[in-house]
Amino acid sequence: MFNPRDQDLAGYGAPAAAGALASGNARTVTLSRFNSFSERYGQWRERASLTLAEFDIAPDLAQDIGSPRWFRGVVTMFALAALALALWPDFSALEAAPMHLDHAERDEFRSQMIMPLALGADSGRHMAATSAVVPLKSAPERPRIELVATLSQGDSFARMLQRAGVGAGEIGDVTSLVASAMPLNEIEPGTRVDITLGRRPAPGAPRPLDDLSFRARFDLELGLQRKNGQLALEPHPIRVDATPLRITGTIGDSLYRSARADGAPVKAVQEYLRTLNDQVDLDRLSAGDKFDMIVSYKRAATGETQTGNLLYAAILRGGKPRTQLMRWGKDGQFFEASGVGEQTGGLLRPVPGKITSGYGMRFHPILGYTRMHAGIDLRANYGEPIHAAAAGSVVFAGRHGGHGNFVKLNNGGGLGTGYAHMSRIAVHVGQRVRQGQIIGYVGSTGLSTGPHLHYEVYENGRTVNPLSVKFVTRAMLKGKELADFRAQLHKLLEVEPGAALEPLAPEADETKPPAREIDRADHPRQIS
Ligand SMILES: [Zn+2]
Repeated sequence: MFNPRDQDLAGYGAPAAAGALASGNARTVTLSRFNSFSERYGQWRERASLTLAEFDIAPDLAQDIGSPRWFRGVVTMFALAALALALWPDFSALEAAPMHLDHAERDEFRSQMIMPLALGADSGRHMAATSAVVPLKSAPERPRIELVATLSQGDSFARMLQRAGVGAGEIGDVTSLVASAMPLNEIEPGTRVDITLGRRPAPGAPRPLDDLSFRARFDLELGLQRKNGQLALEPHPIRVDATPLRITGTIGDSLYRSARADGAPVKAVQEYLRTLNDQVDLDRLSAGDKFDMIVSYKRAATGETQTGNLLYAAILRGGKPRTQLMRWGKDGQFFEASGVGEQTGGLLRPVPGKITSGYGMRFHPILGYTRMHAGIDLRANYGEPIHAAAAGSVVFAGRHGGHGNFVKLNNGGGLGTGYAHMSRIAVHVGQRVRQGQIIGYVGSTGLSTGPHLHYEVYENGRTVNPLSVKFVTRAMLKGKELADFRAQLHKLLEVEPGAALEPLAPEADETKPPAREIDRADHPRQIS
């Protein structure tokens, strides 16, 4: 640390001298204090104190190098270092005492360890029976087993019972009892069935079914109970209210968001938008317009709800319906509800589908160059009927070049209509057709990439944009059917918006019987 040959010894000498002086002064003070102590505490204390005070245990090793005091300091330093090293803790590894296992002990260890099955694991303690063990004739069993079985996709009710442990002899009884209340194949997959199996009548015999209950249908809960040894069916009809759900509101920024905010189920909004999109240009709607939708809706007294199909979709502008569509008929097609059955000057839409390609210049998908598209393309499925847009006479029916199977009508007043790519033609030249009469079926003959209806309108022999002539999708109804259509529309429009969302009255009001009743006179019946 200190180089004894350092030239600037004076630099160290001066503070060292000052230190010695200072320590000398301190010693003088201490001595005088010890002298005053010695008068009270005796001679040996004084001597010990003096010796300790004189003893210089750690001399400065930079001073008086080579002197006996200096060597004592070096020895002290090494002694302290050696002591410190001697007190260094021992980190040598812990050593376990060697264990000597005999065969029995090794087996005992084996039974406690976890080992892969592939290596012959036989974990778990095995104890051989001693003379204290008395074998039982039969092991005690739980008296009842309660379980939940689920009817899966493609499953049968009988197979589900078999899996649950119902005896083969009883499965037939159970299925015929349930089938007497409702067809077994109408039970929805995923239905959970609560099953209670009772005490075995004899060892090894299957457990008898004591109780079985499940929600068979939205409006029916079925129970099977053993009474006096016989299984009895107990249907519990659930009161269901089928008031359709009507939702109205202002379109605002987004029809979807507004309708959702007003409580319309997602599926209903999607169906509403899809239905309207086929009939009106949704981009032309304004924020102030109102939407009005009615969805079939079922509420069970037990709290579940079921949202069905869209029944009615309308757009109102200034309080008046602008578009009013109602689902009608077996195939659930939507029809413009206003003016149904009325003969108007407008042209009937030959198929209800959306326009997929408009009138004007366009790039032809098959020919590969831009040319005039002389009509409009309407989306339609293969085989869908094509209706005459207006009454008239057939002036052409047959193959017509790129048009494929083609029908052209003269609708009078200089107006004509043409229908192309038909799969089948249902009229012949010279025939008179009514408005709405089926003149053929959708196909993809001629220059066509897929089934659709290419529809042309002529004014004085030249094609015009069919959209410039007013279109209507209108059910052509007469007599009783027309009356029914109007009656249903009237009934739907009487539904108060949001009425179906109000809570169902808690107790069954007797004016509204359950939608479908299963009543077996020989069994108790109960309305929950
Ligand atoms: Zn076309």
